[in-house]
Amino acid sequence: MNDAEEMMAGFDRRCREAGLKQTPQRREIYRQMLHCENHPSIEEVYRQVRCMLPHISLDTVYRTLATFERHGIVSQARLFGDRTRYDARTAPHYHFICRECGRVIDVFPDDLDRPEPLPDNRELGMVESCHMEFRGLCRDCLDNS
Ligand SMILES: [Zn+2]
Ligand SMILES: [Zn+2]
Repeated sequence: MNDAEEMMAGFDRRCREAGLKQTPQRREIYRQMLHCENHPSIEEVYRQVRCMLPHISLDTVYRTLATFERHGIVSQARLFGDRTRYDARTAPHYHFICRECGRVIDVFPDDLDRPEPLPDNRELGMVESCHMEFRGLCRDCLDNS
């Protein structure tokens, strides 16, 4: 199974667990999200989905993504200073954003030499999430400069 098939199988499983009815529209929206790769905005997902389902509305895509998010099937990639983008990866990870081409690359804590754990500090209170973002030049842009 390749990555996309594996993600689709995961989608099927999570829909079942969440008791979420699978419709051709929902499958297509998720599938296109995977194809977009680069943490698409709602509008980008909509543009892609419309190629396959010409009659779908932006509102449907919007509501479907919100439903997916509620069930933990997608997450919002909160990129600093950017509009809402969606992420098909729900496992905790960070983002590396290329300032040249705007590409967003997923960075998993295991990939880092020194993964930053959540601070376990009583004085702070209870930390529930952590946002870390890397910016710079991606490999391609570096090689082409
Ligand atoms: Zn780049
Ligand atoms: Zn991501």
